[in-house]
Amino acid sequence: MKNEDELVNAIRSQLLWWRSFGLKDVAIPAGGPARQVQQADAISKSASLEAIRAELGDCRRCRLHTGRQQIVFGTGNPKAKLVFVGEAPGEEEDLQGRPFVGKAGQLLTKMIQAMGLTREEVYITNIIKCRPPQNRNPLPDEIAECRPFLDAQLNLLRPKVICALGSFAAQTLLRTQDKISQLRGRFHDCDGIPVMPTYHPAYLLRNPQDKQLVWKDMQMIMDELQLLREA
Ligand code: SF4
Repeated sequence: MKNEDELVNAIRSQLLWWRSFGLKDVAIPAGGPARQVQQADAISKSASLEAIRAELGDCRRCRLHTGRQQIVFGTGNPKAKLVFVGEAPGEEEDLQGRPFVGKAGQLLTKMIQAMGLTREEVYITNIIKCRPPQNRNPLPDEIAECRPFLDAQLNLLRPKVICALGSFAAQTLLRTQDKISQLRGRFHDCDGIPVMPTYHPAYLLRNPQDKQLVWKDMQMIMDELQLLREA
């Protein structure tokens, strides 16, 4: 743990993980991270994303609840091998309650289809579950409040690969300030799960010349997932 905030968040995430199964008075298990992962895996079959969503409830843990139309929790396959994590809902997502449904979402759908997959086969979510005003970047205290729910989602899903869409998602997941241009193009580790950072689809709409770089990142994911692709 790098600092006290990360330790507090890790403990909160762990508590949230257990409480999502309805266990309200459970102590943090002893024995270190490996034992916690084993125990989490053992009960994961009875866990559900719905339980985590129920724990989130009508969340008012940070100021972003005041401007949202609805919480955008995440959609897709609970058994997905690939999870996409973006930054935060935009206007269209806020209205529909689903992640990546605007123009950037349509491009993400094309990227997924180009990999030989469908949206129904992957899982898509964001770092932050409520739309920030004017689509500004989420603030550190907002991330601190919301991140335990993302961690609980990822703990439950345990995908083979996470694709971090854009600098904000990559920097948050990997706890770094490195630029997306430095991070993309290779796998990183997030609690034992390979993370491939790449450019956000909204960035690609403004900078289509970089689509080729993103496709290279997607091909590396396809190789990691052993998806068939043309040479
Ligand atoms: S952004 Fe997250 S923590 Fe803040 S109100 Fe929305 S769901 Fe709750």
